[in-house]
Amino acid sequence: MSSTESTGKRVAIITGAAEGIGKATAVRLANDGYDLGLFDLPRAQERLEVVADDIRKAHGVRVVNVYGDVSKEEDVKRLVDTVVEELGSVYAMIANAGICINRTLHETTATTEQADKLLDINVKGTFYSFKYAALQMIKQGGGGRLVGAASIAGKRGFPEHALYSASKFAVRGIVQSAALDYGPYGITVNAYAPGACETSLLRGVDEYFAGKNGQPQGTYMEMFSSNSALKRLAQPEDIANLVSFFVSDNAAYITGQSYLVDGGSCFD
Ligand code: NAD
Repeated sequence: MSSTESTGKRVAIITGAAEGIGKATAVRLANDGYDLGLFDLPRAQERLEVVADDIRKAHGVRVVNVYGDVSKEEDVKRLVDTVVEELGSVYAMIANAGICINRTLHETTATTEQADKLLDINVKGTFYSFKYAALQMIKQGGGGRLVGAASIAGKRGFPEHALYSASKFAVRGIVQSAALDYGPYGITVNAYAPGACETSLLRGVDEYFAGKNGQPQGTYMEMFSSNSALKRLAQPEDIANLVSFFVSDNAAYITGQSYLVDGGSCFD
């Protein structure tokens, strides 16, 4: 079946869609006319239902919600299977779900369970999301878009971000290798690499440094804002705009890239 056969609409899956960058991306892609498969943890069910209802009302597209954990292979397989069953195909996979844990490196080694969790979600979660979406895209006859969530911390290290940074460098590695694997099928693979984007994740990092250094809340975020050329934090919609471009036909010749959206904080 071609990616647009069932309704003429392309289908995009977004993981971690209940809030932040994932939610903004869901709204943006619905506005672009995509039908959506949205995925998040069972504990985010109430929030994801509101996101889906609002999108259906505002944009008239079809939205299917699936719940699970991106670090569990069987959950990601079920996500793709369910979306294909209900919406007919998959054109784009946005492997957005991710977490951040801040520690100095030696403190991180003392919390092995947390370290495993971070790598499982950020690295394996991206790998499984790409794997099952790519299998489906190839089955459909090729063509499609895989988009990962890298970070400015996947371009350079930051204090007390060792494993997070490693996980985002890993996303870049997956993106580059997968671009080579799937280029022959007409599937492009890219990632967005946000700087500091105003979401729960960033507020968590800010709280960590406030607690640790005795600084007022907001200090860490303000530092990022004032160090950027544009003197502001990213909003989730800034990142969603890039995803919209990546999945569009206009980005057909761009693959293997992890693209900074950071208001001019890191120049590569
Ligand atoms: P967020 O914390 O605001 O939202 C993340 C969403 O993912 C939540 O809805 C959460 O429930 C979901 N999620 C978490 N673990 C999951 C799992 N195991 N399975 C399924 N869903 C899960 O985060 P955000 O700031 O929107 O970040 C989105 C992505 O962008 C992440 O990969 C993050 O690392 C990356 N990123 C964010 C920033 C930033 O400053 N906010 C910067 C660079 C990169």
